[in-house]
Amino acid sequence: MIGTANPLIDRMRVYDPHVDGERLERAFELGKTAHAGQLRASGEPYFTHPVAVANLLIDMRLDVDTVITALLHDTVEDCGVKLATLAEQFGDDVAQLVDGVTKLSRIAIQSSPSSAQAENFRKLLLAMSEDVRVLLVKLADRTHNMRTLSFIRKEEKRQRIARETMDIFAPLAERIGVTSLQSELEDTAFEVLDAEMRQGIINRLDFMVSESEILIPMISVELQSKLEHIGIESSVNGRMKTPYSIWTKMQRKKVSMDQLADIMAFRVLVPDVSDCYRALGQLHLNYPTVMGRFKDYISTPKRNGYQSLHTGVIGPENHKIEVQIRTPEMHNIAEHGVAAHWKYKDPIQGINTLKIKWIQELVSILDEEAGADEFFEHTKLDLYKDQVFCFTPRGDLIAMPKGATAVDFAFAVHTKIGETCVGVRINGKTRQLATELENGDQIEILTETNAKPKAEWESFVLTGRAKSAIRRFIRAQRAFEFSRIGKALIQKIFREHNKSFRSRSLERALGAFGLTKLEELFVLVGEDRLSPRKVLEKLHPDTVTDESVPVRSNATRNNNKPSLTIRGDNSGTAVTMARCCHPLPGESIVGIFTTGKGVTVHTIGCATLSKFNDTPELWLDVDWEGDTTRMVNGRLNTVLSNEPGSLASVATVISQQGGNISNIQLSDRNPDFFHILLDLEVKDVEHMRTIIAVLQTNKYVESVERAANA
Ligand code: MN
Repeated sequence: MIGTANPLIDRMRVYDPHVDGERLERAFELGKTAHAGQLRASGEPYFTHPVAVANLLIDMRLDVDTVITALLHDTVEDCGVKLATLAEQFGDDVAQLVDGVTKLSRIAIQSSPSSAQAENFRKLLLAMSEDVRVLLVKLADRTHNMRTLSFIRKEEKRQRIARETMDIFAPLAERIGVTSLQSELEDTAFEVLDAEMRQGIINRLDFMVSESEILIPMISVELQSKLEHIGIESSVNGRMKTPYSIWTKMQRKKVSMDQLADIMAFRVLVPDVSDCYRALGQLHLNYPTVMGRFKDYISTPKRNGYQSLHTGVIGPENHKIEVQIRTPEMHNIAEHGVAAHWKYKDPIQGINTLKIKWIQELVSILDEEAGADEFFEHTKLDLYKDQVFCFTPRGDLIAMPKGATAVDFAFAVHTKIGETCVGVRINGKTRQLATELENGDQIEILTETNAKPKAEWESFVLTGRAKSAIRRFIRAQRAFEFSRIGKALIQKIFREHNKSFRSRSLERALGAFGLTKLEELFVLVGEDRLSPRKVLEKLHPDTVTDESVPVRSNATRNNNKPSLTIRGDNSGTAVTMARCCHPLPGESIVGIFTTGKGVTVHTIGCATLSKFNDTPELWLDVDWEGDTTRMVNGRLNTVLSNEPGSLASVATVISQQGGNISNIQLSDRNPDFFHILLDLEVKDVEHMRTIIAVLQTNKYVESVERAANA
């Protein structure tokens, strides 16, 4: 029933005498074995399907790798054959092609796009078919599945497959110029989608040309002899148009079938281009022409590469007919499109060059602007090569530029979703927000109501939309911080000079700085782009001096901060404890204005402070005060003896003294000792001193001290 690879090899030899029959045979045997025992819905052995697909591709004169791919295209998904096995036995190229076809099939199965989404879906399939041969195998696969669709029992499934064929695969076939598959895909889908309409057209056709069985050969012969008169050798092929093409023409021209009239089409093949025009002249000389039907696709090919002369004449016996005149080469391209460009007999060109050529050809065909031809009604394809297409959880397709990340996707769905996104699941798995998206990914963005964009996103997002939204947010955030710092700095210098700080008088001076808003002035000062001294001097010219020593003053305290008070009216200022010295309540401390951060508090003895000796305006008097029950973090640098129970003993001591260990960091370990950084929550510096003192009496403790400049 299945037989051998020989018929395939024989058919390939016709156009490729050097075909590697042994390879094809091995592929045939592998496919046959892999699918052994499996049946099609028709009851036939499953392997008849890959063989039929291979035959369709041989009709298009494709190379042996494509034919092998056809034979094996379902083995990975349905039989668990490993891609590595295919690579090993048939080379990377075949493995990649099979992988491509498998991926296309998975996409097609997991989503059933609505007609509105069809265009994006076609682009997705194109983008995923990095090698055109992948698409050709998929189209041949679909063509054979449509031929056997009637064996599928469920009406609903037949409808879905037919709809998908009509919306997605037939237009794809058209787009790459494979008319031979396109018209079959359309007509088989039409049969399922609108069986009644199709049957009606067929009945009408039968009635209109009941004598078509003799009519078509008769007209063919007459056309041929007219051309022979002027010495052109031609082959003429007549056919009835397909019900689907008649139906679309009826719809497009809004006419009935009787008005349509030219339901017979004749294809005239002549040796060369000049014969095409001579043949056209001869036909126009002998038969009345139908107005508006002449088209010269030779001088202006369609964008999928199609060339021919079209005309309509009132032909033999007053039958209105359509005539297409072309050379055999043009015919090959008309039938097989991109597939016709394959070159077989050039052993010098490596496979990779050929592959690249294929891609380039496809790109050039798809990128060209749509011509003014009536057959090409589908919307123009974008530069799909630079795009990836991803699904929302609802199955909508979203096109993104290649390299886009989950965050880009979130912003593409909605700005709000981008701003509040906190995580992402890709194909059901939790991933980093920076993950680059791939074609066909299903993306679920996780959001939290109060989440905010993160500055680091800017380093990996790709789309302008995400970038500008993140920047806008960060700018607003920074402006807010800088404005607070700027205001504090201005207030401080005013205080130091015993000038009262009044927003209104400050506002009057805005013009002098070329500003209109007080906020802008604060931001400039906060960003360190304008010194607060300049502001002071502008309002109080009497204060112009040459000072180098910071003036410290104690102004009224306020109790807004529970454990720390910054002297002066700085209640809004953000306060951070310096990580170098971990100040504790009770210790002498000083605040340093840090741009973008607010005030950082250091112990008065901290070595870091020397960095700020030259910038007295950044110093700020701060003091501990208020709620002393709040615990604060301190850090101890300890060396313990390396023996069992030492750490437990230390932890016990600390907790007995009312301290909490919040973090333990082992920094170094040798046979005798280990160095440990202990982060403790304590009440104040006295509390810490007590803990240190007790620890020093512990037998396991070699040394203990406050960590500084860690
Ligand atoms: Mn298949």
